[in-house]
Amino acid sequence: MNNTPTPSLGASVALLRGVGPRAKEKLNRLGMYTVQDLLFHLPLRYIDRTRITPIGALRTGQSALVEGKVELTQIRFGKRRSLLCRISDGTGALTLRFFHFSKSQQDRLQRDTRLRCFGLARHGAQTLEMIHPEYQSIADDELRPVEENLTPIYPATEGLQQGQLRKLAAQALKALEQSNTDLTELLPDLIRRKFNLLELRTAIIYVHRPPPDAATQSLLDGVHPAQQRLAFEELLAQYLSLRRLRQQLRSHEASALAGNGSLTTAFMQQLPFILTPAQRRAIDEIHKDLQNNIPMLRLLQGDVGSGKTVVAALAALKAIESGYQVAIMAPTELLAEQHYNTFQGWLTTLAVPIILLTGKLNKAERLQGLSVLSSSTPCIAIGTHALFQQDVAFARLRLIIIDEQHRFGVHQRLALLDKGQGFRIFPHQLIMTATPIPRTLAMTAYADLDISIIDALPPGRQPVTTVVISTAKRDDVITRIKEACNDGRQVYWVCTLIEESEVLQCEAAIDTCQYLTEKLPGIRVDLIHGRMKSKGKESVMAAFKAGEVQILVATTVIEVGVDVPNASLMIIENAERLGLFQLHQLRGRVGRGNIKSDCVLLYQPPLTGMARTRLETMRNTNNGFEIAQKDLELRGPGELLGTRQSGLPELRIADLLRDAKLLPDIHHAADILIKNYPDQIQPLINRWLGKETDYGKV
Ligand code: ADP
Ligand code: MG
Repeated sequence: MNNTPTPSLGASVALLRGVGPRAKEKLNRLGMYTVQDLLFHLPLRYIDRTRITPIGALRTGQSALVEGKVELTQIRFGKRRSLLCRISDGTGALTLRFFHFSKSQQDRLQRDTRLRCFGLARHGAQTLEMIHPEYQSIADDELRPVEENLTPIYPATEGLQQGQLRKLAAQALKALEQSNTDLTELLPDLIRRKFNLLELRTAIIYVHRPPPDAATQSLLDGVHPAQQRLAFEELLAQYLSLRRLRQQLRSHEASALAGNGSLTTAFMQQLPFILTPAQRRAIDEIHKDLQNNIPMLRLLQGDVGSGKTVVAALAALKAIESGYQVAIMAPTELLAEQHYNTFQGWLTTLAVPIILLTGKLNKAERLQGLSVLSSSTPCIAIGTHALFQQDVAFARLRLIIIDEQHRFGVHQRLALLDKGQGFRIFPHQLIMTATPIPRTLAMTAYADLDISIIDALPPGRQPVTTVVISTAKRDDVITRIKEACNDGRQVYWVCTLIEESEVLQCEAAIDTCQYLTEKLPGIRVDLIHGRMKSKGKESVMAAFKAGEVQILVATTVIEVGVDVPNASLMIIENAERLGLFQLHQLRGRVGRGNIKSDCVLLYQPPLTGMARTRLETMRNTNNGFEIAQKDLELRGPGELLGTRQSGLPELRIADLLRDAKLLPDIHHAADILIKNYPDQIQPLINRWLGKETDYGKV
């Protein structure tokens, strides 16, 4: 039927069957121009349609092919109308659930019809469930074959169907097998032998078209040698690129901030507490970096409440006493204002000018701030990303401090850097994060950063006791709150909602505030949410800080960084809907002073297995590293780091968690390449990172 010759690997994708101008354009947009590029569009995972799984052996979370007879089909009315169809194969029963369905579909799912279904098994009310499975009816005596190979699933690509991608991959494989030229092997023999890696060609063919006798489970788990060979190469390319970016950064000139200690010493003397050894170590590391004329790029990592702000202040003062300006960027207005107040409190006697720049300033205030920045006055500018808008010009900016950087996107970080690049002299950068990224992950994600870790909380902190309570027992919680308030403690009540809607979240908070006011006469309740004006938020926060407000009802705006040490009871509503790390951040708002603190996680039953695990983890530990590790296991590194947060482009085949064990070998391989095969480095980076290389530039 087809006698067009197979195109060569270097040919345009347009020469492949089924690729018209529109498909070509879509492929190009995804960075695929040549037939060879298609070979590097790798399957993300596989589905197994090679065998029929007995229903009784099905596990939650498993995608499987099953076969059974319909026992019962009925429409279920409720919050959402759905069509339920129960099938059974003698080993067990399974419910198929459809939210969108037609009358004819309902008719086709008659009792005793034999069905073959493919879908993801989930926990259901009575049996396991599949929501919107694929299904076909088959005759009673029919022996329908199953597939011979695992089916590759390619990364979702707008406007290109899986079927189409599979056909394109098949053509590209054919081109590879018939072509005289081969894929360029970029890993020298020496490295392949040393680290026991398959040849590129073999690996590529295998992952696109696993043979029928393939080791199914290891492919499904992503640990097959063919996949590992490609993951190795991908992580190596990532690592080399980060190392190079780091080197580029270091080739810029920064100012050596030697300072004479006048401000830093005075500041430490007047602090109401003594720095912990961990804080002191971090400050030493930072001060040492600042004394070089190479730009610092340091991550300051410390659990919520570990005291990063004071470290930032000491870094800032070093720049000020050296005669320069500092910018401190916070992710929200509320936090910027809080930092402003904290710094004002700490620095008034030292007469350091502090300028608050947020989006909410009026024109005159803003202009006044801007004029200080554009003069050579040493000062600290605190703000949100408004700090780095077009019209903001710093005359002597030499240090940028970014707080809670996981809230910032890569683009903001790049914009920040541009700001610095406008200068002949590059600013030092300190990035503070409460995300306790597990060490192995940090090594890859931040290969280009130096890291300081504050690994101990200030003394006297009491661990927060966490309980998990069903909303049905709300009244017990009210009693608890009353007791706490009578003891002079302060309380947060956090409202969350399923919908990502700020409006609904605010409404819920308003309702709750009213409810608590009625239930707790004589106790002062107030409210803070994301839709309030900045001034309003500020005055509520100030009243809460001053103890005038006893219960603060809040939406998740208080998530990050808010510091009110006397608040020692926190209620989190709908806790089952929040991610582990978000819960940890919220809970970090209490237990900041030396009062014994409690956290109540209210949930709406029934709990899914995942939600139960999350809540139990919260009850069992206060340790941010443990929680991050668990979060990583539950959701994978993409969620924890978030591409947005890590500055890393999406990985094609490697998985930072699964493949972390490869990292020492990868670092070793990188050294060998740099030393003996420097010409291979650029092609490797191009192959895996393409034009996205700029991403890593933090
Ligand atoms: P985070 O690391 O979450 O930003 P903060 O910098 O807000 O933490 O510090 C939390 C609280 O701990 C603040 O009230 C701060 O003043 C206090 N604090 C910081 N360092 C110490 C210390 N060494 N001893 C006692 N309290 C401290
Ligand atoms: Mg903070």
